[in-house]
Amino acid sequence: MRKYVIVGVQGSGKGTQSLLLARDLDLVHISVGDIFRWHVQHHTKLGAQVRRIMAAGELVGDDLVEKVVRDRLELHDWNFGFVVEGFPRNRRQAEFFLESYDLDGVIHLDLPDVEVRRRVLARRLCAGCGMDYNLIADRPEVEGRCDVCGGELFSREDDTEEALAERLRIYHEKTDPVLELFRRKEYVVTVDARAGIDEVQRNLRLKLGLPLPRAS
Ligand code: AMP
Repeated sequence: MRKYVIVGVQGSGKGTQSLLLARDLDLVHISVGDIFRWHVQHHTKLGAQVRRIMAAGELVGDDLVEKVVRDRLELHDWNFGFVVEGFPRNRRQAEFFLESYDLDGVIHLDLPDVEVRRRVLARRLCAGCGMDYNLIADRPEVEGRCDVCGGELFSREDDTEEALAERLRIYHEKTDPVLELFRRKEYVVTVDARAGIDEVQRNLRLKLGLPLPRAS
């Protein structure tokens, strides 16, 4: 059983890296942001509660977030373990998590703010299959269309200059201390997220003592 948390500022590649790790090691990938986005897209009651907060780049209240995480983990479909992305984001969430689950590692993807800005403002998602693109490094073949399913590409509502500035501010104020808390328990591996996707994956596996990706 392997239980990981992946932490990093927006655009650091948390989604991409945790999916690669989860796919290869049969872990369940749990993204709190994706769960909220699903609710917003499907106009659920929870979606209505979080939509504005998300669009402004602010954090959803701890009680609600903790409930979503607890309900998801209580499905117990994670026979080989899990990778949780986007949680914990502040001290209280970290304490809640540490009380309930023994973690095998916290993966910290480290990316300077200037690079975050460059990446996030170029990010596009497919409305059909959720595939993500980047207009700098990973352009779709046909502008505005997904290479995989032909779906329309859109920008996340919170990938704007204003919302990004707010998310960066909150990240440094609230999430940096979480890393400190984890570091004291020696859980954290920090990986330079400026490298390419495969290299970041390789480095984080080396640091966690995990089998390397099959292709390398
Ligand atoms: P993400 O996809 O991880 O960037 O999350 C998108 C948005 O969902 C965030 O900007 C928050 O509004 C909300 N959110 C996701 N995870 C959390 C969390 N752990 N605590 C509070 N809000 C969260």
